[in-house]
Amino acid sequence: MNLSHHLTHPVFKAVQQVADRKGVQAFAIGGFVRDLILERPCKDIDIVVEGSGIELAREVAKILKAGRVTVFKNFGTAMFHHHGVEVEFVGARKESYERGSRKPIVEDGTIEDDQNRRDFTINAMAIRLNATSPANAPSYGDLVDPFDGLQDIALKILRTPLDPNVTYSDDPLRMMRAVRFACQLNFKIESDSLQSIERNAKRLEIISRERIHVELNKMIMSEVPSVGFKLLFNTRLLHQFFPEMVALKGVERRNGIGHKDNFFHTIEVLDRISKNTDNLWLRWAAILHDIAKPPTKRFHPDLGWTFHGHEDRGARMVPKIFKRLKLPLDHQMKYVQKLVLLHLRPIALTQEEISDSAVRRLLSEAGDDIDDLMILARADITSKNEAKVERYLLNYDEVVKKLVEVEKKDGVRNFQPPVSGEEIMETFGIPPSRPIGDIKKAIKEAILDGDIPNEQEAARALMLELGAKMGLRPA
Ligand code: ATP
Ligand code: MG
Repeated sequence: MNLSHHLTHPVFKAVQQVADRKGVQAFAIGGFVRDLILERPCKDIDIVVEGSGIELAREVAKILKAGRVTVFKNFGTAMFHHHGVEVEFVGARKESYERGSRKPIVEDGTIEDDQNRRDFTINAMAIRLNATSPANAPSYGDLVDPFDGLQDIALKILRTPLDPNVTYSDDPLRMMRAVRFACQLNFKIESDSLQSIERNAKRLEIISRERIHVELNKMIMSEVPSVGFKLLFNTRLLHQFFPEMVALKGVERRNGIGHKDNFFHTIEVLDRISKNTDNLWLRWAAILHDIAKPPTKRFHPDLGWTFHGHEDRGARMVPKIFKRLKLPLDHQMKYVQKLVLLHLRPIALTQEEISDSAVRRLLSEAGDDIDDLMILARADITSKNEAKVERYLLNYDEVVKKLVEVEKKDGVRNFQPPVSGEEIMETFGIPPSRPIGDIKKAIKEAILDGDIPNEQEAARALMLELGAKMGLRPA
């Protein structure tokens, strides 16, 4: 098979020129080749050369007048950006592993050696970039596919080039990658491979949590992420790094009353939300919204199963989970925490006559994340009963109408009380102290409850009244 017509990026011709002149064999390889054949958009290009990747990168960059070449001397790699694509160069490598070690012994090798150390047959394909092969036949654009990755693409199968037990125990991250690709590409993991993953799942412990979360997040960003979570659960990979999610699985019955399986509920919510958002952290909020159901579960003789306070407890579980997975601990984590904490509030709003004050409170607590909260709340409706789903969604339409109406009238989103602490201090001529906080809080409550309008004049009047009650007089 020849793919030269598909090699549209200018880097390929430049590599050919330099490689032919130097008499070294160069190839495009890996994910780039796979995605070309799958007709997925091209993100980055990997070039392998039987020789120095760094030298090749420098000379190719010169021809293309590409920008700065970044060299990673320790890894023998170099890369630059050209026409919006990241191009990475590396010398062909042979890797051997010693059991129990994560660090392979790396030596220079041939293209075959390099293809042997790849994770899956579909990721081990290469495209020859020299004008002619060592046997002197025209070869630019020829597919070099020793493990029949092309067939596995047609069959939608993930298969390791070597014995899966070797491939997975050499680098256990490949098990996460198997699940990620299965989910992302809608491929099946070949059965020997799947068994090998089940056998080797525990070895994931030698892999850094950063590398794990990179694969996990790519899986979460795929179209139907539940597929990946089911695989992670069934292979017990999930058990190695996310026991809280494992604990969601299962149904307990007492007095003939069961509760829903919260693992399936959670991944259904995740699939539903994924249709409406590409925000990774909103998808994480879906994953974690019910995470505290197991630790808050109680059986009540009259009420049946309850999960009181799971939203609050769940929000408090988020930091530990983010820390363990080395996910970002600043605004992303706070955002997820907030959505977990508030996830029941929209539904609570529909259960009564929607009062302005309840709406104002929710607006002031959710701030700019109110729209995302409503996306989560909508995804959270997973009843089998379509009429019920329909009814809930209509209720949410009412809630949204009300949110818009109240926000327009009162402007309490990102609420700042109309009198500041400084103003209170100045008015009464007092230093920073407890009464100032008390007065501010009371004004905020009064506005949210609708006792006074969200206006300066009314707020100042209340401030004077509250001050007087505390024995304060205007200075
Ligand atoms: P993506 O679409 O996420 O970029 P990718 O397959 O290109 O997927 P990369 O991490 O960019 O993944 O790796 C590029 C190539 O390097 C892969 O296609 C594969 O051939 C090889 N590779 C990456 N990680 C591993 C690994 N852990 N073990 C073996 N080969 C790997
Ligand atoms: Mg890639």
